[in-house]
Amino acid sequence: MQPTRGLTRGAPRATVYQMAYFPPEQYEAAWTQGLLNATSHRDHGDYRRETQQTMQAMAERAAAPIQIVRLDVPDLLAYAQRTGTDPARRPTRLAYAGWLHKTGHTGDLWPPERNSPCWCGSAAKYKKCCGNPAFLAIEPPDPASLVLRIELNGVTPPVWRRVAIPSNTTLDLVHRMIQDAMGWSDEHMYVFETDEHTIIDPRSDSGEAPADGERLVSIATEAGATFTYVYDFGDEWTHTVTVEEIRPGGPHNTFTVLDGGGACPPEDIGGAAAYQHLLAAFADSSRPDHDDAVELLGEDFDPTRHHGATAG
Ligand SMILES: [Zn+2]
Repeated sequence: MQPTRGLTRGAPRATVYQMAYFPPEQYEAAWTQGLLNATSHRDHGDYRRETQQTMQAMAERAAAPIQIVRLDVPDLLAYAQRTGTDPARRPTRLAYAGWLHKTGHTGDLWPPERNSPCWCGSAAKYKKCCGNPAFLAIEPPDPASLVLRIELNGVTPPVWRRVAIPSNTTLDLVHRMIQDAMGWSDEHMYVFETDEHTIIDPRSDSGEAPADGERLVSIATEAGATFTYVYDFGDEWTHTVTVEEIRPGGPHNTFTVLDGGGACPPEDIGGAAAYQHLLAAFADSSRPDHDDAVELLGEDFDPTRHHGATAG
């Protein structure tokens, strides 16, 4: 369990989680400036419902209070220009929120009291606005479905899965879906990485962006895009994920394993190189470590067989 790639250096444990939010009067400008990803929201109502639901999910797991930081589009653009950062990126919005905080513009803690004005900037009471169960029960529009190819790096025969997954899925849930599709047992922490983002298991105290506040669309923006999913910072199982296709939204878009090949390696064996040694020992009965490999993998183990594969 050696921490790797600097995951433990950097910021200390967060004392407050900041939720960046565009108030109603900033929403149109945010769209026009390309500051919002095409997630599931069609209008500001969908957007604040999604924000409320994200904060509820964060509150269930977060060890720190949540603070709403209201974003101002011209001010955010000016900040991005000053710092040479991309205003469309969530890390920039979070850095901007942090800068606002440091300069004395503290946001409100979430959730408000039931009878207090809602966090969203409407004049209504929280219980009648974003805290209203009827408001939260409104079905969001159908998200697009992303077809992803997930391939485990450094192993032969190849271990890969092709899955369809709704674009608005939070990355914490994407992690659990990848675990299911590959055949892992979700015993270790994980991290998603792109050229610009590091988004990590919310149980980590690395100070990187937590995966339960971030949705798949923010790292899988177009067909051909790739990102990396690393599972277990000890064995460091590294998966390359490619967006193969973006399908239009539909009412039946759910997580589906479409195809795949190769058996998932056992957990805690030391990673891809160790797995290759294990397979070599398994295949060669003249080796002194053959019996141990058979015991570990099981006599019927077939490295080419996808555990969830249907016959034929
Ligand atoms: Zn509200």
